[in-house]
Amino acid sequence: MLTAPDVTQLIGNTPLLHLRQVSEQTGCTILGKAEFLNPGGSVKDRTALGIIRAAEKAGDLQPGGRIVEGTAGNTGIGLTLVANALGYKSTVVMPITQSKEKIDSLELLGADLHLVPAASYDDDKHYVHTAARLADKLAGKEEHGAIWARQFDNPANMAIHEATTGQEIWAQTEGRVDGFVCSVGTGGTLAGVSSALKSHNPGVAIGIVDPCGASLYNHFAKGRLEKSEGNSIIEGIGINHITDNLAAAQVDHAYHIRDEDALPYAYNLLQHEGLCLGGSSAINIAGAVKLAEELGPGHTIVTILCDYGTRYQSKLFNPVYLENKGLPVPEWLQI
Ligand code: PMP
Repeated sequence: MLTAPDVTQLIGNTPLLHLRQVSEQTGCTILGKAEFLNPGGSVKDRTALGIIRAAEKAGDLQPGGRIVEGTAGNTGIGLTLVANALGYKSTVVMPITQSKEKIDSLELLGADLHLVPAASYDDDKHYVHTAARLADKLAGKEEHGAIWARQFDNPANMAIHEATTGQEIWAQTEGRVDGFVCSVGTGGTLAGVSSALKSHNPGVAIGIVDPCGASLYNHFAKGRLEKSEGNSIIEGIGINHITDNLAAAQVDHAYHIRDEDALPYAYNLLQHEGLCLGGSSAINIAGAVKLAEELGPGHTIVTILCDYGTRYQSKLFNPVYLENKGLPVPEWLQI
């Protein structure tokens, strides 16, 4: 019998999906790594498993122990799922501004959920700092101890992407990948995949794509860590400081893309290719198109399809919400 012993074995080894319209549009082969197929529904399942396995190995996480994390939601979902499967507990700190669907999922999975107001990173009340304090407090209280997952600066985050996501892309493309591009929440995906691909072929072009209101485009394009103009409704990405994970990324090209230019990729995919993706996948695909245009026809570009669109149904696919945000409503969504 061919069986998976537990749900953690279902994490990773996702297929590379050919994205038809953008490939035709650019004359390149644009491929999306179908991370929405992970059991927790996002690329962050890998990070969750990587961090937990590293903490076990270091002897920091005791059987029955608690994992505490600040997250936009997906890492919390991954950590809670892995914790449930391996006999740990989870505490998740998340800004209340994140989608209702992610909050519902965390409640369903049984996370000890703490919703906090949105705050900037230099504010003590930011969800990451709140999680750090909570982990400290719980470490002394919990019978089996507690650890802070620290996904932004924990090297286990990029390490799992280097060992799995990046190696999978290299093997699945049979080494014929010319470019890779993705957006950044912690930088774990970008750093890990860029390291893996460049170790096979230093000529692979690596791109970062950043939403409006975040600082990474200016950092990589102009050497100034300054917010770009505007803002974005896309969750899970768009940061204003350099995390330890991001510091290890090897970046050749930087793009910034407005929501009104990114989201149509998600709408077109749903309508014409049967694929319902979240906003970070849309901006990733928009970035892949930019990199394809820069490299020229005939190249193979890979990006990340981070999570599924149903996770944002109340926002990205809600005409009232879109209209309130001043974003174009696709014709088929209009009421
Ligand atoms: N997309 C989504 C939907 C996410 O939740 C995240 C992580 N917060 C990312 C992209 C970015 O991944 P990473 O943390 O590896 O930079």
